[in-house]
Amino acid sequence: MLEQATVDRLRQMDGQGFPVLSLYLGLEAGPASLRSIPTRIKDLLSPAKDIPDSLPRHRRMSLRDDIEALSRASTVFASDLGRAVAVFRSSGAGIDEYIGLPGPVRDRAVIDAAPYLRPLDAMLEHYRRFCVVVVDRRSASIFRFRMDRLESWEETRDEEIRKANYGGFSGYEERRVRAHADEVLAKHYREVAARLDALVDEDPGYDLLIVGGPEVHAAGVVEDLSPRLTKRLAGTFIIDPHTMTPATVLVHSKRVASAYEKGEQERLVRRLLDTAASRRDAVIGVDDATAAVNRRAVATLVVQADRTNPGAVCHSCRWISRPEESACPSCGGTMHLVPDIVDALGDSVRNSGGSVQHIIVDTRLAESEVGAFLRYQTAIA
Ligand SMILES: [Zn+2]
Repeated sequence: MLEQATVDRLRQMDGQGFPVLSLYLGLEAGPASLRSIPTRIKDLLSPAKDIPDSLPRHRRMSLRDDIEALSRASTVFASDLGRAVAVFRSSGAGIDEYIGLPGPVRDRAVIDAAPYLRPLDAMLEHYRRFCVVVVDRRSASIFRFRMDRLESWEETRDEEIRKANYGGFSGYEERRVRAHADEVLAKHYREVAARLDALVDEDPGYDLLIVGGPEVHAAGVVEDLSPRLTKRLAGTFIIDPHTMTPATVLVHSKRVASAYEKGEQERLVRRLLDTAASRRDAVIGVDDATAAVNRRAVATLVVQADRTNPGAVCHSCRWISRPEESACPSCGGTMHLVPDIVDALGDSVRNSGGSVQHIIVDTRLAESEVGAFLRYQTAIA
């Protein structure tokens, strides 16, 4: 299963001079998909078979071994049909990693000095942990989902509201019982909100909160959320607590979460484009973003690049440029080719303490592929 720790571990790996083959493959469900895998792998890797001539022989052999092993290994993908996989191999460096992925990826094969991780970063951002509460009058069910799988489920049940026989009571007594019922309900909402708040601090915590149930009870809990939970609230949905199952809750929650994420990403891109248009602390496009990354000026790199375009990185000072440069414009050192310039930008931003955000919904950033919020206003008048 895909975890941040796995990606962090892969990021520490490099081929120690041997080429690392990274393969991403989307797998449709069904036997036809399984049969198509060897051909698809062959197509993806065929450009790779031509590259190795420039490499020393032992490195070429390592890559050849990896390509052959993958071409033969299509049956290992059987257990991930309907989803996707990422494979990282460098037999020379002893790297052999296979990761089942929770959602679709675009097929691609990349050969580089280290594992190619941009699709995994994008996926991790997309699959956040979410907590879903379904509130009823006296009970609440709290589900936690990760990568669309149920991680935990707990039920809370509050004190029963006293059953009262109104027949023999005076109006006063009846009002008193009602007031008590309201009080019990208010206390129930408060307790549910408090439990949700406590769960944020429990390992592994959660990123998004979704509240469901009959409208009145969902609204009651939403009103009692602490400020930090209000920030995590992705939305609400209506469901009958008596007929719900974890599967139906997940369906509703995914709909709420994806609408929320779409809005969030659209807002981020709009803010980026507006900032770049009106002020000087954001830039748009690969060239301007590269210049900002080289100045170590990027706070957040925003990426919406479906294609991969090559670039070059300086061996000694990590300067990044378009692939045409053979000598580093900054220090004169040797530039080496990298398969994906945007990936190199992302690595550099992370290494200098910035962050990277991937946009997966359709936005205007797709034309420019990448943009960046800068750390400070550039001094250029
Ligand atoms: Zn340099």
